[in-house]
Amino acid sequence: MGKQKEPLACSVCGRRNYSVPISGKPDQRLTLNKFCKQCGRVTVHQQTR
Ligand SMILES: [Zn+2]
Repeated sequence: MGKQKEPLACSVCGRRNYSVPISGKPDQRLTLNKFCKQCGRVTVHQQTR
């Protein structure tokens, strides 16, 4: 398998707003600050699994 995309969900409302390509380190949970449309502000987004 090649590139895998993982959804990132807002840690506040749980909405899945983004998906990012994951490479390596499957045990590490990715967190990014992204704008959430539902919250109307930048929140922490986490990998959903
Ligand atoms: Zn949100």
